[in-house]
Amino acid sequence: MSDLASREHTVALDAADELKGFQDRFAIPTHGAQMCVYLCGNSLGLQPTRARKLVNEVLDAWQAHGVHGHLDGTRPWLPYHEFLTNLTAQLVNSQPREVVNMNTLTVNLHLMMVSFYRPTAERHRIVIEKGAFPSDRYAVESQIVLHGYDPAEALVELAPRAGEDCLREEDVEAYFAREGGKVALLLFPGVQYYTGQRFDMARLSRAAHQAGAFAGFDLAHAVGNVECRLHDDDMDFACWCSYKYLNGGPGAVAGVFIHERHLDDPTVPRLHGWWGHDKDTRFDMGPDFKAIPSAEAWQLSNPPILSMAPVLASLEVFSDAGMDRLRMKSLKLTGYLEQLIDTRLADRIHIITPRDTNWRGCQLSLRVKAGDGRKVFENIEAKGVVCDWREPDVIRVAPAPLYNTFEDVRRFVLRLEEALGASKG
Ligand SMILES: *Cc1c(COP(=O)(O)O)cnc(C)c1O
Repeated sequence: MSDLASREHTVALDAADELKGFQDRFAIPTHGAQMCVYLCGNSLGLQPTRARKLVNEVLDAWQAHGVHGHLDGTRPWLPYHEFLTNLTAQLVNSQPREVVNMNTLTVNLHLMMVSFYRPTAERHRIVIEKGAFPSDRYAVESQIVLHGYDPAEALVELAPRAGEDCLREEDVEAYFAREGGKVALLLFPGVQYYTGQRFDMARLSRAAHQAGAFAGFDLAHAVGNVECRLHDDDMDFACWCSYKYLNGGPGAVAGVFIHERHLDDPTVPRLHGWWGHDKDTRFDMGPDFKAIPSAEAWQLSNPPILSMAPVLASLEVFSDAGMDRLRMKSLKLTGYLEQLIDTRLADRIHIITPRDTNWRGCQLSLRVKAGDGRKVFENIEAKGVVCDWREPDVIRVAPAPLYNTFEDVRRFVLRLEEALGASKG
């Protein structure tokens, strides 16, 4: 066994990890008597131990105050979502008024398309990436149909070049240079869920804007994974879920960013509900809608406080760790994973995620070159490794810098090597 894959090596790496204390702030699932090697934070992040405290706080306030919990208690419910605002704005580098936590991801994509998909006879296409997350594709397709257009013509899916796994930004630009006049909206991921490719959101936003289209992003795999500069990247909107890298719990309340230039623009269409109404006069219960001059104007209902509490707990952890420190560790952790695979498994595993660290987050997508990849996956799963399988031949692995260790990565690679049936011992 080479030094790189030795226990001594990971002990040294983990000891030098500036963020090592953060692992204790999460509940790590177990497999028998051992802790799992949990590399599935791209699917469902782990529970911050503080989540239980904040959920109980809501239950206690409800028990003690009933309806008065809206105004009483440590964290009253009426402004509860506001306790998340600054933490969210810090995390994605936006102004506080540009972000709001509400609903869930696909719902928010629809709400954003109500505002930013305004098709006309000449300009009604939506550009997405081929192989987009199915929910996004369903949402986009149904919006096109809702407006009376034909998805066969209006839904454009840009694919990587033949023989390549990832789509080039220059090819998106070329499409906009050619056909941009027909495009109403670009909807792209920040980090692609399958390949792990990170896109240059500033560059794609520019390409869309130069062609007169809006630019929106799905950041389900980007927020909490890579540094986001949403305001400066100049996109029109972005949506993300909070239960993947953000560790906000299953079905957690999701996040939305809307660029400041749209917040005071009365021509932006929007669906309305009472929680988007001016706070000072909301409870006058009058018939006329007056929008809050922030992303909060897009809120419809009073929020689900119980599923917002764990998001608050998680955002506090992110604030304590700092995205810059997280990213620094993430580069090392995923770099170590890449190095181990390259030195030990290159003949059996092809990494489809970009090799340039600028253009990926923590996830590596591993294509099993030969044999039954699904069996390999099931084999490592039975040994306490949690990662995921995506048809037809990809294992996605996401070491999360908040709670994963270099030893987790080492154990994963050794289990994978055993499963591939060719341990070099
Ligand atoms: C996880 C994920 C979703 C999930 O959508 P929900 O509305 O939260 O169920 C949608 N899109 C992308 C790109 C995702 O990664």
